[in-house]
Amino acid sequence: MIVTRTAELAEDHLNAGTLHCPRCAGRLAKWGFGRRRTIRSHGTATVTLRPRRVRCPDCESTHIVLPAAFQARHADTTAVIGQALLHEVNGLGYRRIAARIHRSESTVRRWLRRAAPKHLHWMYQRGAQRLIEVAPDVFGELRFVGHQLRDTLSVLCAAAYWDRHRLGLPDPPWTMVGIYTLGRLLAPPD
Ligand SMILES: [Zn+2]
Repeated sequence: MIVTRTAELAEDHLNAGTLHCPRCAGRLAKWGFGRRRTIRSHGTATVTLRPRRVRCPDCESTHIVLPAAFQARHADTTAVIGQALLHEVNGLGYRRIAARIHRSESTVRRWLRRAAPKHLHWMYQRGAQRLIEVAPDVFGELRFVGHQLRDTLSVLCAAAYWDRHRLGLPDPPWTMVGIYTLGRLLAPPD
């Protein structure tokens, strides 16, 4: 899977021959589309995702291109899952989060469980790496509180903010976070 800021950007890169194979760095070519899926956005809104499929002529691998507003193997947008995690940081339990974001309690509870320490550590590293690249001065000023989820979201959101601020990227913050975390805000199931 390849995560891009937007589907349009991936098309531009494909047309220009500048989207490269993650395995061998060959030039990826269009290879149809993945299955069309209905993804749940905020509240009861839905969006349709029809992810581009690409193929590498050199190593013959095929890949799915996922716009970063979406999550690998989830029917909810990056922003919705991110919002649930933010609510937890703010002290809400899964029942109240579920009511706020219009999802079932079992769905929210499953998400919160998958924000597991090992995965959070990886996300923290990804966020810190990006923040140090884009705003090293800011990284030194971040105050960490020793709450793993809170600290992880702090560093990811700071990276998104400074990426937008200093590089002028127009994408929503959760889309940026989706890029840093490679379409995986939550750990994959065991
Ligand atoms: Zn390849």
